[in-house]
Amino acid sequence: MYNIVVASHTFCKLMSFWCRLLHASLTSCHLLAGYKSFKLFINNEWHDAVSKKTFPTINPATGEVICEVVEGSKVSDVDKAVKAAKEAFRLGSPWRRMDASQRGRLLNLLADAIERDAAYLAELETLDNGKPYSVSYCIDVPMVVKCLRYYAGWADKWEGKTIPVDGDYFCYTRHEPIGVCGQIIPWNFPLLMQAWKLAPALATGNTIVMKVAEQTPLTALYVASLIKEVGFPPGVVNIIAGMGPTAGAAISSHMDIDKIAFTGSTEVGHLIQQASGSSNLKKVSLELGGKSPNIILSDANMEEAVEQAHNAIFFNQGQCCCAGSRTYVQENIYNEFVERSVERAKKRVVGDPFNLKTDHGPQVDDEQFQKILGYISSGKKEGAKLMCGGGVAADRGYFIQPTIFGEVQDDMKIAREEIFGPVMQILKFKSIEEVIERANDTKYGLAAAVFTTDVNKAHYVSNSLRAGTVWINCYNVFGVQAPFGGYKASGAGREMGEYGLEHYTEVKTVTVKIPQKNS
Ligand code: ADP
Repeated sequence: MYNIVVASHTFCKLMSFWCRLLHASLTSCHLLAGYKSFKLFINNEWHDAVSKKTFPTINPATGEVICEVVEGSKVSDVDKAVKAAKEAFRLGSPWRRMDASQRGRLLNLLADAIERDAAYLAELETLDNGKPYSVSYCIDVPMVVKCLRYYAGWADKWEGKTIPVDGDYFCYTRHEPIGVCGQIIPWNFPLLMQAWKLAPALATGNTIVMKVAEQTPLTALYVASLIKEVGFPPGVVNIIAGMGPTAGAAISSHMDIDKIAFTGSTEVGHLIQQASGSSNLKKVSLELGGKSPNIILSDANMEEAVEQAHNAIFFNQGQCCCAGSRTYVQENIYNEFVERSVERAKKRVVGDPFNLKTDHGPQVDDEQFQKILGYISSGKKEGAKLMCGGGVAADRGYFIQPTIFGEVQDDMKIAREEIFGPVMQILKFKSIEEVIERANDTKYGLAAAVFTTDVNKAHYVSNSLRAGTVWINCYNVFGVQAPFGGYKASGAGREMGEYGLEHYTEVKTVTVKIPQKNS
């Protein structure tokens, strides 16, 4: 997943970053100096909350407060943002009258501005989220740019159809924007999840009220300043930081929001769906949790399978909805696989996310940190074999050692629930039929993988798995052109690719009577 060319570029940028560190003895205030980006972004202006409330955002590597962020709360602030978005969507508004090609151009300009400020955004992301700077800069920010450019291209190409209906009629469809879209995003990929939501919605001409996660509000708010800078009309994008049960719930139950897109836990996904049902039946798309099986058949290339399975679970400190968190290994290679996986995990460099050598930063906050430690003790109690890790990795911040459990059984809590942390479960299986059944025996269906050198087995297993994404001999490979989303309780709808556009458009059927004779 790491691109060497980009990585060397990163090195130069990092050097400049470290120099500044030395000279300015970098503090959070330094990184944030000059920006008012930690207020509510409504109608292209920065606002305080009606309640005047703020909340602290924390650096997870130290546990220290980075800065205070304005807390958008319940009805008052959300109402203001919705009003602005509704006004921007009014018939005849600059946004509604804008050519689709111009919407695409604005998205490209936003991508340009993000590329220009890539190093700064990556620094801010690492500071607020804790992910290694090399990941923020080499993976997250480039993926954001690709996403914006991809959907910029779609803006004037999302065509309707002409339909050969019976009778003397000309029938065609138009793909029209849905209206005001509520978008609620999580903290594990703050910039990327923001782009996944903004890009298709804007390409198709909607307006937006977005709530960013309370753990990681900073980069999304900085992007808000770029949205204004590149010329999106006021009210098209409104971004609020705030808490889920207040600001988030106000969005999901708002009568003037026409669609909601949510990424987060399955638990909150239920609430979002219910809020839609009990308010105005706004359209809902959901990208939720997972407990993804990663199946290693005995004929797999061992070295590759160990490396990929390692990244499948430990990438982003295990904070990925599609993490390969149930590693099923065929019995005759089980011992060797476990041994090699433990060796690999012990080499993972945990530490300061701004250090170039670091692979693995802290968990996002104390709540996640405690929750993961709770799962680790539950694994021990239920009789799984702790092969490595299992403890806290630093005396401050929220660092957890890369942890591996062997001899995990399907009914253990660690094999059934989403841990969202650096904890690998390795389970043994005998036959392909058995592992397919066990892999599918979960309420989730987000992702899965199979490792084998036999093409027939690869396709047989892949076709049998009930998951929205199946990787064969690889893991965590994302293309902005390919859809992503879940079966079962892992979600509703797909993001990315052409499929992602469907969830931001209404299809209008227009039927025109054609006179039979030319009179
Ligand atoms: P996690 O448990 O991993 O933090 P959540 O699903 O709680 O994930 O959070 C994802 C996003 O959903 C965040 O922006 C959060 O503020 C928001 N959220 C949490 N609770 C609610 C709720 N009741 N209604 C709407 N949004 C919510």
